[in-house]
Amino acid sequence: MVIHARAALLPGGWADNVRLTIADGRIVSVETGIARQPGDEALGLLLPAMPNLHSHAFQRGMAGLTEYRGPAEDDFWSWRKLMYLFALGMNAEQVEAISALAFVEMLEAGFGRVGEFHYLHHDRDGRPYTNIAELSERIAAAASGTGIGLTLLPVFYAHADFGGALPLEGQRRFITQPDAFARLVDGARKAIAGLPEARLGIAPHSLRAATPDEIGAILPLAGNGPVHIHAAEQVKEVETSLATLGARPVEWLLGNMPVDRHWCLIHSTHVTADETARLAASGATAGLCPVTEANLGDGVFPARDFAAAGGHFGIGTDSNVLIGVAEELRQLEYAQRLTLRQRNVLAEPGGSTARFLFERALAGGGRALDAATGIAAGNPADLVSLKGEALAYGSPDEALGLFLFSRQVTTDCVWVNGKKCVEGGTHRHGEAIRRKALAAISELVAD
Ligand SMILES: [Zn+2]
Repeated sequence: MVIHARAALLPGGWADNVRLTIADGRIVSVETGIARQPGDEALGLLLPAMPNLHSHAFQRGMAGLTEYRGPAEDDFWSWRKLMYLFALGMNAEQVEAISALAFVEMLEAGFGRVGEFHYLHHDRDGRPYTNIAELSERIAAAASGTGIGLTLLPVFYAHADFGGALPLEGQRRFITQPDAFARLVDGARKAIAGLPEARLGIAPHSLRAATPDEIGAILPLAGNGPVHIHAAEQVKEVETSLATLGARPVEWLLGNMPVDRHWCLIHSTHVTADETARLAASGATAGLCPVTEANLGDGVFPARDFAAAGGHFGIGTDSNVLIGVAEELRQLEYAQRLTLRQRNVLAEPGGSTARFLFERALAGGGRALDAATGIAAGNPADLVSLKGEALAYGSPDEALGLFLFSRQVTTDCVWVNGKKCVEGGTHRHGEAIRRKALAAISELVAD
């Protein structure tokens, strides 16, 4: 298969008249400054597909349904109570149907891979399924049916809070001990075995849900794969961490765990200047989920200082309340603007903000999900083409700005491993998957 783009974003920047030859799911060659040949698929602007480094796919089922104010001040913890109720009601078919919907929407938005931070493991009564990795298999089936690339991150979750607190009844579907977790990781490895370019990592949920000893015990299961952990999303979490571990979450991880390029610290919202600099120096990725962090009232990550210190970051859709590449990157930049009262914060001096955001998140996402990204020979053909009348004017950087900041340009086609999953902005199996997921969500809401 050969495609020809008027312009494409390559690792070295924009190139005009780019011709890609694709075979067995990979980019075989990239030619630039070359005219379209007969038989080439003709495209306007071509981007590499963006990795989505953090998702809880099942939460897509409750997207938009928790926007009520409670009797007291509403916050993350009241949202979490509702999320548990929702999680407790889902059967395996519903988990698969709703995950498939989330993955369809990710592909349509321009994501080519998802890091599924998967913690809904057991049956509704809290007992493991006969196959302990049943729900990992459902996630893998949803990825396979939609075509999205998968980095599966089975989650270790054992406690309700710091200090090894007993888990809550509402957490019963998440809970494992280290030995059962090893079997779960094994099952997850088998679940993804048939998926092209799939990767496996592990995810100790947080310092709330896993003790230092438990994290130490499960770490070898990661091998050379990624290790993801939620850290410092909430102020209360930082305070309890200080009280029980004697350090803030990110500070503690950097001081006590082998945090390096394989690690991804999700959120890292509440960090001091010292933690920001040390996290950047560690080589780990900051897994930012700006839309969810705004929705849950978490706070704002010091992205300007982190990026200036050479820190790696990527974006995740986390709660999946709204799924979008443009939306996450825009919210990331806008939170900085609102905090610092400046414009074009996340950019090189004189450079395009959209380009800086896109390129950094692409590299950070690939790093966090153990996946090669970018339009280069040898890489998987994970590609996004853009459409919109506004493409008729302006430079490619301006077109990218129109995509991220004003929705005058939107996704057209999306390829993952060389397979076209999305055409004209719509997933090829989107209609059937939406119908099934809608039925599942209606049943859950009725309950
Ligand atoms: Zn999360």
